[in-house]
Amino acid sequence: MERYLLQPTKSVHIHVSHQRKKGVSTPLFMNNDEIPSVQRAIHLGIIRTDSMLNNQKANVDENFKKARRKAYSIFGSGYKGQAGLNVLSIIHLYKSYVLPVLLYGLELLLPPERIINCLEAFQRKFVKEILRLPDNTANAAVYLLSGLLPIEAQIHIQALTFLHTICSQDRNSIEWALLERQISFKSVDSSSWFIQVQHIMWKYELGTVADLADNTPKKGKWKTRVLKAVHSYWSDQIDSLTPLYSTLFFLRQDKYVPGKILPLLSLEYTARESERLKTKVRLLTGTYMLQTKRKNFNQYDINPTCQMCGEENETAEHFVLKCSALHSVRQSIMVDIERQWGAITETSFNTLPVDEQLYILINSWPTLKTFLKTHLSSEFHEFEKHCGRLLYGLDRTRQLLLVTNASQRPPRTKHTQKTN
Ligand SMILES: [Zn+2]
Repeated sequence: MERYLLQPTKSVHIHVSHQRKKGVSTPLFMNNDEIPSVQRAIHLGIIRTDSMLNNQKANVDENFKKARRKAYSIFGSGYKGQAGLNVLSIIHLYKSYVLPVLLYGLELLLPPERIINCLEAFQRKFVKEILRLPDNTANAAVYLLSGLLPIEAQIHIQALTFLHTICSQDRNSIEWALLERQISFKSVDSSSWFIQVQHIMWKYELGTVADLADNTPKKGKWKTRVLKAVHSYWSDQIDSLTPLYSTLFFLRQDKYVPGKILPLLSLEYTARESERLKTKVRLLTGTYMLQTKRKNFNQYDINPTCQMCGEENETAEHFVLKCSALHSVRQSIMVDIERQWGAITETSFNTLPVDEQLYILINSWPTLKTFLKTHLSSEFHEFEKHCGRLLYGLDRTRQLLLVTNASQRPPRTKHTQKTN
């Protein structure tokens, strides 16, 4: 036990058994006192157990608990966007306070895919809750909207940063000795931390651990290189998924930019505007339940015809632009939209083809960005405000009409009524 000073009362001993030869734990003594043998202990904030898998499970479980507690303590009721906090601020708070707790120590444990998937599900659930999206929202949409990096990518960045810290150590340090030994003796399928990080480096085409150790760049330079490689890899992954989902039709013109929330969500919305965002975000992600959608998702024979006017199938186009039952709601707000569109583009909104009008009302930025310098401009906010009013108004009226129609329907007759 050279180089270490052990604390006599707090020290414990964990017996780590090798997979192939299950040895019996032999008692250890310090100053004639036996060191208690335990199955779990905390060292430098990380839970240690008798196997790597148990370490991963125990730490991730603990991180989940703490991250959940943190999220509720920060957001409280605002968690679901009701306290006037806008989406951009919530995502920012999540990144600063919840994510570091959720991912604490995981760059050392490099959890397997199964555990990563649980962490990924936690993050996606959080985003869906703040945007009030249903569970069946496509995963790609969650990342495209929030700009958050998948958990796997974030753990990779942490591990690659930590590797740089080790490479920057003095050549006589224990860390250096470990690095040298592991990369020269371990095979590529080894579970050694250094070999696992080597696989991560190959994934992002960042060279080898040995090269990095021999020729270690400055911290800032390495960080820039890592972020660039990781961001570009995941942008390609997520952008290649978007066209595969028919539900993400209205997001096809957007690109996933890691760290950047969708322009539409980054506006400084008032509490009322945030409240109205729900309808828009559902239409945007193809999760708004129209009759045609209900038919696709339901095993029963659902009539796709609009239940309000009965004139044609209830598609997004019919609901937003055509349904005669919603005409009065649409008419007045469309005047404001036409006026604001004219002010920005100096063209007429009403003369655009119907499918273009629909795309713009649901996701205007891909079209408006050719006319405006930044999405933070007040003109864009004003246009979005009217689109939000329109979609929210249509949704409210639709809900009301559907409830009224249902209550006016004749009651179902029971075929098997018993007569006394
Ligand atoms: Zn209709």
